[in-house]
Amino acid sequence: MSIKFGPEYVRAIAPYQGGKPIAEVAREFGLDEAKIIKLASNENPLGMPESAKVAMQKAVADIGRYPDANGFDLKAAITAKYDVPSEWITLGNGSNDILELATHAFVQAGQAAMYAEYSFVVYALATQAVGARAIVVKAKDYGHDLDAMAAAITDDTKLIFIANPNNPTGSFIPAAELEAFLARVPPQIVVVLDEAYNEYLPPELQYESISWVRKYPNLLVSRTMSKAYGLAGLRIGFGIAQPVITDLLNRIRQPFNVNSLAQAAAVAALNDTAFLQRSAQLNRDGYRQLTQTFDELGLEYVPSFGNFVMVKVGADEAAGARVNLALLKQGIIVRPVANYGLPQWLRVTIGLPDENAAFIDALKKLLS
Ligand SMILES: *Cc1c(COP(=O)(O)O)cnc(C)c1O
Repeated sequence: MSIKFGPEYVRAIAPYQGGKPIAEVAREFGLDEAKIIKLASNENPLGMPESAKVAMQKAVADIGRYPDANGFDLKAAITAKYDVPSEWITLGNGSNDILELATHAFVQAGQAAMYAEYSFVVYALATQAVGARAIVVKAKDYGHDLDAMAAAITDDTKLIFIANPNNPTGSFIPAAELEAFLARVPPQIVVVLDEAYNEYLPPELQYESISWVRKYPNLLVSRTMSKAYGLAGLRIGFGIAQPVITDLLNRIRQPFNVNSLAQAAAVAALNDTAFLQRSAQLNRDGYRQLTQTFDELGLEYVPSFGNFVMVKVGADEAAGARVNLALLKQGIIVRPVANYGLPQWLRVTIGLPDENAAFIDALKKLLS
């Protein structure tokens, strides 16, 4: 008998499965790395903004020193952009860090955290990591069912995760519905509003979640620099909440959780509105390119408000895995979502026009 280490709830966690790295697919399938197309992790196909690259190169000179533990310059940039005091900001090693910090700060074993079916897998992982109970509320049209979520709140519910837009489905909750929900949640329950794809929303759907933070002391808004800002590899995100929440997050985060290159790049990227606009436009065009083909092929997809689309590639339970493998053999990496309970679907990140075209060509051949 081998010794078992750690609590049962840790041993029960299924490890996170990310998009396959390009180098791994090249090795596994004997392909040329340069020809592989990765549409699997919702990264910005433009890469990082030039402004961030320049800032980072400058910051390299000081890499022998610890980063600023309080992120003074980056908080100043966030303060200027969102008009919030710096005491309302928590910096994270990716916004993943913020999600985990929130779980550690507000939920303990024996208590409950809530999230929607088909919502971002990190909510489940973070909940399990602290031994808390998950209340998973059935999705409606592949998105959050806020009425059902409000009804499912229990006395021991301490934290609610909402992703808007949601990953992997791409669903979106209009501002009015979301605020009505916030008004219904008991004030002692912390709501994490994860807005990783906020920057991709068209102007008519944008809303001022930061103004809700002023109104609701139990609201924590989470943002990332990994998607539209093109800095996924640096790991940088942030949370905005009133000091009653922010103070606790800052007590339990690692003092140097955000490295100095990430801080420097993030300041530059936050102010690079031209890059953001270019990214959003490219995304809108790519969305049309992909969904027109899905329409032609008669494939069902969930209308998406992020930089990816979830498409149903077959009726049988093995469809997602089968089409995914066939795509991999041609050097195209997308994301199967069977781990979300969606084995007939694939999630495709919107890439550059020729990357989208290569995916479309391969998919057409496979399905005809
Ligand atoms: C990608 C993503 C994140 C952020 O990831 P980080 O790289 O850790 O900032 C957060 N939430 C959702 C819903 C995402 O899809």
